[in-house]
Amino acid sequence: MELSNEVINLGKNAEEAVQEEFKKIDELCEYHSNRVLNAFQKYHVSDIHFNSTTGYGYSDVGRDVIEKIFAEVLHTEDSLVRSQFISGTHALTVALFAFLRPNDTMLSISGKPYDTLDEVIGIVENPSSLKAYGVKYEQIDLIENDFNYEKISERVSKQNIKLIEIQRSRGYSLRDSITLDKIEKVIKTIRKVNQEVIIMVDNCYGEFVDKIEPSQVGADVIVGSLIKNLGGGISPNGAYIAGKKELVELAAERLTAPGLGKEVGPTLGINKQILQGLFFAPSVVASSLKTAVFTSKLLEDLGYKPRPRYNEKRTDIVQTIEFGNPEKLIRYCQGIQMGSPIDSDAIPEPWDMPGYTDKVIMAAGAFTQGSSIELSCDAPIREPYVAFMQGGLTYQYGKLGVLHAIQNILK
Ligand SMILES: *Cc1c(COP(=O)(O)O)cnc(C)c1O
Repeated sequence: MELSNEVINLGKNAEEAVQEEFKKIDELCEYHSNRVLNAFQKYHVSDIHFNSTTGYGYSDVGRDVIEKIFAEVLHTEDSLVRSQFISGTHALTVALFAFLRPNDTMLSISGKPYDTLDEVIGIVENPSSLKAYGVKYEQIDLIENDFNYEKISERVSKQNIKLIEIQRSRGYSLRDSITLDKIEKVIKTIRKVNQEVIIMVDNCYGEFVDKIEPSQVGADVIVGSLIKNLGGGISPNGAYIAGKKELVELAAERLTAPGLGKEVGPTLGINKQILQGLFFAPSVVASSLKTAVFTSKLLEDLGYKPRPRYNEKRTDIVQTIEFGNPEKLIRYCQGIQMGSPIDSDAIPEPWDMPGYTDKVIMAAGAFTQGSSIELSCDAPIREPYVAFMQGGLTYQYGKLGVLHAIQNILK
């Protein structure tokens, strides 16, 4: 499908108006590229690290160097970066089951966590949930897009909260994503009254969007997916848990087995892709950010309500657009699919996805199944009809995808 001149011109105008933002994103990209390059050099990455192991995966020097580099780049003592993590949800699950024991309490301070954790925590009943193992759950909601500092301070000063979870990105909620200055402020608040509690941040979609990571403002452990930011669109799957050495060790013993920990885990030939993915990640995150900023300006010009606005500070790669109308929303998502490199002739329709209350539409013409560092867009079909869009392997492809989407709502 060809883009009309009208649509191309709308794109040009939006692009011209966001050049200042693009410049800042370029600077950010250079900053993180330099850090990644330094980490590769510090650990003397060489051909030998691209080698593969099978079976138990003992003595995988590539895997070991990958975990040192991730720890370096994320400013943590250690990391566990494994393709045996099926997804971000799996890594979060492993972390929670590793740190929490029967009768412990987990406290979420950014409202309800990401939907896929409902059954993990036991918010939705499941015989294998943390709840089923006797782990208690409490939640403190955000107020006006910020932490409820007073209530958090009061609760954690009392007995036995074992772990605090903070979700940086908005997930499918309509709240804003949480900036690092707020995360820093809440961690300082917590540490004034409690030095023991484990502070874990769900860092999905957040890596390399700011100059620093939650680990640099006091988080003990952070978790993310390799089919999002740090995989750079090249890692075929996997996730990471990075943080304090003893916490990473606990997570490793839960992922593999007690006594085995980090020493095992065959890499089956993907070390090079993981390294190359991290190498590309600063640039791919920058492309995703440019795609988001461009989209925000363009859709605002067209009279819709994007969040964040194009010139607002970002803490993740997610762009939401409120359409206020189900037809426009569906047409936008279908247009993103039309503008994708893979399955561009598929027409996504809203459907009853397991685990969701409303019908959901998902556009993803991605090389890697479910990869959302590639341009992707999904939306629950409910008021106020908001699309959640993210990714873009290159800005040019991201822009083209979005232009196809607006052509599809304008026609
Ligand atoms: C993507 C995401 C996850 C994990 O999702 P998976 O699809 O399992 O990788 C968790 N939390 C947030 C905020 C996310 O964006």
